[in-house]
Amino acid sequence: MIRTLIQLAKGGLATPAELFPDLPEYSRGLPMVTDARCSGCGDCAEACPTSAIRIGAAGEVALDRGRCIACDACTGTCSTGTLAADRRTRVAALRREDLVLTNAPKRIADTPPPAPGPLRRSLHIREVSTGDNATDLEIGASTNPIFDGGRFGIHVVASPRHADALAVSGPVARAMREPLLRCYDAMADPRIVIAVGAAAISGVPWEGGYADANGVEAVLPANAFIPGSPPHPWYILHGLLLAMGHPAARG
Ligand code: SF4
Ligand code: SF4
Repeated sequence: MIRTLIQLAKGGLATPAELFPDLPEYSRGLPMVTDARCSGCGDCAEACPTSAIRIGAAGEVALDRGRCIACDACTGTCSTGTLAADRRTRVAALRREDLVLTNAPKRIADTPPPAPGPLRRSLHIREVSTGDNATDLEIGASTNPIFDGGRFGIHVVASPRHADALAVSGPVARAMREPLLRCYDAMADPRIVIAVGAAAISGVPWEGGYADANGVEAVLPANAFIPGSPPHPWYILHGLLLAMGHPAARG
């Protein structure tokens, strides 16, 4: 917090000219899979509290950022450097499977650019929080003067009748299904659904429990996925611009 305040005091509150800069050195970011050879020790998978990592018999690593709460436990246990911190901020994806990083050649950057859509010039968002207040705060931050989603026509609106996009945070437990569906039903076409944060994407760490909190896709198909717990505002802007088909989202 002190470092953040010092940085704000030095830099002021101006909107940065650079889009999607890397996170600062002191920030943890999300883990990534590097080209360093995996020994297959399995320590990372054992340390991961959300079962986001799978290790194959021949050292194949599959890291699911849709289940990652960015606790950093895996990178600290990996002696080979196969898992490392990733401070890049273009981390959202249009397909759920693109959040799974592996040590095979495929990377997030391979995601095909979206076709320009009807929402390219502006996006009005109605957020439904199903229980992830940290992510709610970061969604709000993505439209503040620093990140300034408004320059892309991104605005949070109060009524679903004015919204193009339903941004869902939290794990969508059974009690929140009906309110979520009623909100979606009140929106006019074309409308999209965006899962914001690991809890909304996969329900972690509550999935499979008594409350049926298994993420938004247990209720509605999602058009974009924004990892993180909570996601950084740059992550959120990246996901929103991807969903719009905006060229600024491309790396
Ligand atoms: S940083 Fe993510 S993948 Fe690594 S241990 Fe924590 S939750 Fe699991
Ligand atoms: S990624 Fe690192 S910690 Fe995980 S199994 Fe491979 S060498 Fe072990």
